[in-house]
Amino acid sequence: MAHLARGLVELERMTHALGTTGLPYPPSLHIGWNRLGRLMLRRGLPIPPSLPALLDLCEQPLPWPGLELGEGAWLPGDRLLANRRVTEACIEIAQTAGDLEQEEQLMKRVLDHCRLRGPELQPSYERFRTFLIERPVLRNIELLDATREPELRPLVDFLKEAYESVPPSCLRDGKVYVCKHCGWTVTWHGGEPLCGWQQCPGDRDPRSAVPVAHPSEQLLRLREGLYRYVTVPGLAEQEFLRQIKSRQVV
Ligand SMILES: [Zn+2]
Repeated sequence: MAHLARGLVELERMTHALGTTGLPYPPSLHIGWNRLGRLMLRRGLPIPPSLPALLDLCEQPLPWPGLELGEGAWLPGDRLLANRRVTEACIEIAQTAGDLEQEEQLMKRVLDHCRLRGPELQPSYERFRTFLIERPVLRNIELLDATREPELRPLVDFLKEAYESVPPSCLRDGKVYVCKHCGWTVTWHGGEPLCGWQQCPGDRDPRSAVPVAHPSEQLLRLREGLYRYVTVPGLAEQEFLRQIKSRQVV
């Protein structure tokens, strides 16, 4: 189940909409599909013969009739897909297989590194975390500038590791669009921009998607696990602090 969920997350990253792909399927999807096939064969159930049939099955609430899926990160009633889009539950299940969690581990490595070096790196850790919260998408050159900041200099390697090229699935008419609420890259399903954070007020709101004025080759974005586990909670925390401060002023 975890491989299948992971495969769906990767497939969504590779394509604009699930099911419209001419690309090779991600390896996790193959593994998940094969394992599911073996389970279904054992139970005498019909195996989904095509990707659309598999995606239809993934729209059904868990557990699927006749299948014993074993213990996992799923709960009864969870769906892997809703309207061909990976659900929060799917992402959580996928983490048991994969790299979103590994990406999140980067923060732990940074923290361990700073602790080992002593209290003088405490401001570096804080600056690193704030940087990730505030800059989910930036230009190569801006990352380079950041590596020269005195506070970030001891964490240069981690900083470079935190970012990746913007994936092609985020391009529309050759441009990258970001969500004006959370700063994350949006992908497009039909005319709807989808923000990576399904609770974001900008999700599916075309007015919230703003084009970035730079070519995609010059842009980097935070790795998805970091966006999910550092930026999203960080933005909520900053909003909370802002509210407290505004109340204190009054
Ligand atoms: Zn957003």
